[in-house]
Amino acid sequence: MIIEAQGLVKQYRMGSTTVVALDGVDLTVEQGEMLAVTGASGSGKSTLMHILGCLDHADSGRYVLAGEDVSRLDGNRLAEIRNRRIGFIFQTFNLLPRLDALENVELPLLYAGFPHAKQRAREALDTVGLGDRAHHRPSELSGGQRQRVAIARSLITDPAILLADEPTGNLDTRTGEEILSLFVSLNAAGRTIIIVTHEHDIAARCQHQVAMRDGRIVSETRG
Ligand code: ADP
Ligand code: MG
Repeated sequence: MIIEAQGLVKQYRMGSTTVVALDGVDLTVEQGEMLAVTGASGSGKSTLMHILGCLDHADSGRYVLAGEDVSRLDGNRLAEIRNRRIGFIFQTFNLLPRLDALENVELPLLYAGFPHAKQRAREALDTVGLGDRAHHRPSELSGGQRQRVAIARSLITDPAILLADEPTGNLDTRTGEEILSLFVSLNAAGRTIIIVTHEHDIAARCQHQVAMRDGRIVSETRG
């Protein structure tokens, strides 16, 4: 089990009101699984991804990631684990506009002080089929190509888990299919992948699916 979460609760205080974003989530994910998280806007999907990705703590509950209880770790330790184990992909790609594709991809390695950043970034771009676009800036790439760059960036530290929050939300259907195929092949190569999606077709390609409503998991299938 690479992810074991029990009773995750997360509340946001907004002035005098409290929003319950997660209301007791239990979830396990096996190593090598591809999990789809679906649910209406506001159901708590991104909040769950932030906690699973060690960007944030739950207020209560227990989270064991790759055998380590990370529920109570301080920010620095949490960041260390995040940098080592998690790759993130976002709907809006989150690339730096002034850097070319290669520089965007190598950035996490530079932050972490890894050697051979340039060479590894080239390999990651090859993995996503963009070896010939290394010196294009984001504005010189299509949406699908930008998302490929973001995926290459997420792969560069060789994380065990990829977390993708609506990765095809800004792409047309065909491009979204291509991005999904890339995730499927990364998963086939052994990577654990969690995808938040509104799209039924995408969820249907994942062997493990959970649906959220009002901060809870209301249905789960594993096949
Ligand atoms: P989803 O990704 O499914 O759309 P979110 O996890 O983003 O849902 O949000 C769940 C609930 O928590 C929503 O009601 C949202 O408004 C609220 N929420 C999320 N992030 C914050 C925040 N930083 N501050 C206050 N409320 C938040
Ligand atoms: Mg969201």
